[in-house]
Amino acid sequence: MRNILLLLLAALLCSCGGQNGKPKTKEAETSLLAMGTYITMRAAGTEAEGALQQAAAEIRRLEKLWSVTDPDSEISALNRAQGRTIQVSPETAGLLAFALRMAEKTGGAFDPSIYPLTAAWGFPAQEYRVPPESEIAACLAHVGWARISLDKTARTVTVPDGAGLDFGGIAKGRAGDAAAECLRRAGVRSALLNLGGNIQLVGQRPDGTPWNIGIRDPSGREILGAVQAESCAVVTSGSYERNFTGTDGQVYGHILNPHTGRPAESGLTSVTTVTGSGTLADALSTALFVMGAEKAARFWRQAAGTPEAFEMVLVTRTGDILVSEGLAHRFSPAGEERAAHTHILRLAETGE
Ligand code: ADP
Ligand code: MG
Repeated sequence: MRNILLLLLAALLCSCGGQNGKPKTKEAETSLLAMGTYITMRAAGTEAEGALQQAAAEIRRLEKLWSVTDPDSEISALNRAQGRTIQVSPETAGLLAFALRMAEKTGGAFDPSIYPLTAAWGFPAQEYRVPPESEIAACLAHVGWARISLDKTARTVTVPDGAGLDFGGIAKGRAGDAAAECLRRAGVRSALLNLGGNIQLVGQRPDGTPWNIGIRDPSGREILGAVQAESCAVVTSGSYERNFTGTDGQVYGHILNPHTGRPAESGLTSVTTVTGSGTLADALSTALFVMGAEKAARFWRQAAGTPEAFEMVLVTRTGDILVSEGLAHRFSPAGEERAAHTHILRLAETGE
């Protein structure tokens, strides 16, 4: 499987036929396996092919810093440090600073110090298990973003003995931002990057119209609806992905509630966030999934008008689709049944 996918690495160059006598737009596409997922990137323009190779190299470089399963990564060094202070790269210091800020803002719903728990549940190694209560309690004693110290100027990090970092909820978002930046720097004006469900958009489609990004229905393989978007990130977190069925027959998802030590059961089955930064969108999609619909709506209203404003589509276990006001005219539910279950969240709403 891996080999077949690696064969796809070679950039496929295609010329797409122009219409009405317009000049043809050159498009290039590349795929790679990185960050534990299948990544495809498509870009338009004469610079596209070379730029995509640079973007792919950038993603691989970041993966080498942040993979918890690679013993040579910076994050693995931190997780082995047992309380020793270690100097890290500007990339790692920057992402950790952002992650700690998001942890504080989300009341710990997003927490990069979740590693002892993700490891106990077997998610990084994909050797899934349900840890006994006593083990969950022991892990919880080591989880908590405030235990991690970061000196931004010196770029030094101290992870206490027993604690650990996991950037799984944010790394693909940052990689998407970095890859998009690579493309823009190379002169690419139109590109769509799909990092295993994290969509990162550069500009508009080559024909100058917005992209239409499909959101998967968490209850099956169908599309729930589509969002019109441009120059931003559209990131979805869901319990339908990377889960496992325990010997008790229960399905356990990979997004954990840092307060309970167990897979988040907030009544949501999927959260899509839309905002300029892929890093922010990624952290938020994980955090809002843990929070549940009510807290997520409150959080969205508080963020409105700030530099960290965002829009969202929440899907509940009962099949309701909650769309934040800013997306009201950009979200199209698939089919009448879903349209009937779509509700717009208003900024002015009170009394939750
Ligand atoms: P995906 O990786 O499927 O796109 P997410 O962005 O929601 O989904 O990230 C989930 C990953 O983040 C988990 O696999 C784990 O590595 C990590 N994680 C799990 N729970 C949390 C949490 N509450 N806060 C921060 N990271 C988390
Ligand atoms: Mg995330």
